[in-house]
Amino acid sequence: MGLLDIKGVGEKTAAALNKLNIFDEADLLNYFPRNYMIYEEPMSFMDIDNRVVAPIKAVLISLSNPVHVKKLVIVRGVIKDEAGVTLNVTWFNMPYINKMISVGKVYVFYGRINKEKKTMEVPICYTMESYKEKLGNMQPVYKLSAGVTNNLVSKVVSECLTMLNSGEIGMGKELLDKDFYLKNHLMERKGAYNKIHFPKNKKEYEDAKRRFAFDEFLEFCLKINALKDKPKSVNNNYICRMNERTKEFINSLSFKLTNAQTKVVDEIVSDMSSQNRMNRLIQGDVGSGKTIVAIISLMNACFCGFQGALMAPTEVLANQHYESIIKLFKEHNIDLKVALLTGSFTAKKKKEIYDLIKKGEIDILIGTHALIQEKIEYKNLALVITDEQHRFGVKQREALYEKGDLPHVLVMSATPIPRTLAIILYGDLDISVIDELPANRLPIKNAVCDESFRPKAYSFIRQEVRKGHQAYIICPMVSENEMYEACDVLSYSQTLQNIFGDEIKVEFLHGKMKPREKDEVMKRFATNETNVLVSTTVVEVGVNVPNATVMMVENAERFGLASLHQLRGRVGRGNAQSYCMFICTTKSESAKEKLKILEKSNDGFFVASEDLKLRGSGDLLGVRQSGEMSFKIGNIFTDTDLLKLASETAKKYNNDSVVSDTEIIL
Ligand code: ADP
Ligand code: MG
Repeated sequence: MGLLDIKGVGEKTAAALNKLNIFDEADLLNYFPRNYMIYEEPMSFMDIDNRVVAPIKAVLISLSNPVHVKKLVIVRGVIKDEAGVTLNVTWFNMPYINKMISVGKVYVFYGRINKEKKTMEVPICYTMESYKEKLGNMQPVYKLSAGVTNNLVSKVVSECLTMLNSGEIGMGKELLDKDFYLKNHLMERKGAYNKIHFPKNKKEYEDAKRRFAFDEFLEFCLKINALKDKPKSVNNNYICRMNERTKEFINSLSFKLTNAQTKVVDEIVSDMSSQNRMNRLIQGDVGSGKTIVAIISLMNACFCGFQGALMAPTEVLANQHYESIIKLFKEHNIDLKVALLTGSFTAKKKKEIYDLIKKGEIDILIGTHALIQEKIEYKNLALVITDEQHRFGVKQREALYEKGDLPHVLVMSATPIPRTLAIILYGDLDISVIDELPANRLPIKNAVCDESFRPKAYSFIRQEVRKGHQAYIICPMVSENEMYEACDVLSYSQTLQNIFGDEIKVEFLHGKMKPREKDEVMKRFATNETNVLVSTTVVEVGVNVPNATVMMVENAERFGLASLHQLRGRVGRGNAQSYCMFICTTKSESAKEKLKILEKSNDGFFVASEDLKLRGSGDLLGVRQSGEMSFKIGNIFTDTDLLKLASETAKKYNNDSVVSDTEIIL
């Protein structure tokens, strides 16, 4: 069986469908509509609120003859709705429209609307009677490519469904038995295929969607489960109670821990002094102060006589953690020995560190994933912490638990994923949430602007620098590239230095620089020797320079909301008012709409859920997924009941055949 076996599909149609990645009946059945046209009550122009496509009841006032413009045949018309608003209407390559409608008559015009310009493009026209018959129906709208019309796809899908319904083609076995689906109000798959393509009403569509969302979640959970099978509880080999010196340190900090931080520290200490080893995730939005919690935990383990390790996803971040711990310990007279280990160290240097660790002469080791890749033997490693956990793969996390003799594990993440999903992804972990920002933080002020704003942005940065503050400017590229028109770090920093003159020192940073150069640049920025840092997204995760108050992102439309939210998190980390400017260099309305989400809120959770609403399936804000892992139809924010059901079902269901080798990066 193949596409050619479907009624009405010849070589040409098959080839065109191939371009949409449709190669057989199954592909076709799973080619879900991108959208549906709903025949809702016809309306006036004033009622269309945010709709891009709408049925407008209007009288046709005038209609031009077809004119040829280049390769197009264009017909223009003017319509007037019941409230007296007139719209200009255009039809392309539909010269016959003149024969179908006549001036002076009332129709329902259903098409794409530009609200500002008061125009409508290629509307379909219905007489009032014919529209009445359709009222309430839903029509599938498919993603198309050259040579494939919506009508064609609808027809071919419909033929395919007939074959499915008559048993001519199958669709694989249902994974679970009938009773299960019945009990959980999930329609059977065959019916769901019919309804997802041709729902008679919203309810039918919702039911079909629910079924496929469940399937998608179930597959996801089965795969996740196949990747991790950790023993639930392991004996605690390292009892660490709250040490007096740790308490002293907390009390002598220059700031008071937030209630959320104190609560999490308590949870950690209680875990580490209990019977079982700790396995905990700390979730906290950017800037919520996860690092200090990590430092306190590491310190306490060391005061109890053990070693600790902290792993960061980038060298820049590992370095920063190292520097800030060294500084903090010095200020507070803490005599623990801290060392840094990253992949770029020479073999000799690494060996020296290995020896010290083995002998127990290093208390806290900080590094990149070099910490798990290399053969390090610890003397008595009691606690392993991973910062920015979502940057590491599941496998890497597991390698960590196996270091040493089953140490306590603490992972920290800023990814604002809903709790249900967090439990699935990190099912083997207990979850702590830091849901409170340090007091005295002023909310970041955000602005989405276009290129014409640049001069104002620069003079604003100048003002902030004069007040003693600093700024980041992010460019999508490292160096100039003829292929893409976008800002690059190298030329941008030079231009900017020229604009600012001697008064302001500009430096640049990108991932291709040597580790030592990166370090030095970061150090100069951290100590405010450099005022403005032009950088790629290497500063996206974790970088902490609280004196920086401005974040300007060039070609902001090129970044995902996940990255933009993380980038924004680089400012607003101190007491001063911070600002974020997203320069949008495209005219695309949808790109602007996406960026506007950032203007509405500084809350990562809100951003993630809005992103998902807007695009159907978001990129889970930094939870990177392989293609297979993205949710086409399920929504992790609104379909939480289904997600839970899928997770519970997956736990019960043990089928080796579904084990996949897909690497999921979280
Ligand atoms: P993140 O959660 O994004 O990793 P950090 O731990 O880097 O955030 O903290 C951001 C900044 O907030 C740091 O400069 C840190 O010193 C500061 N900070 C942390 N906790 C508090 C607090 N309770 N009060 C004031 N400032 C704090
Ligand atoms: Mg951090």
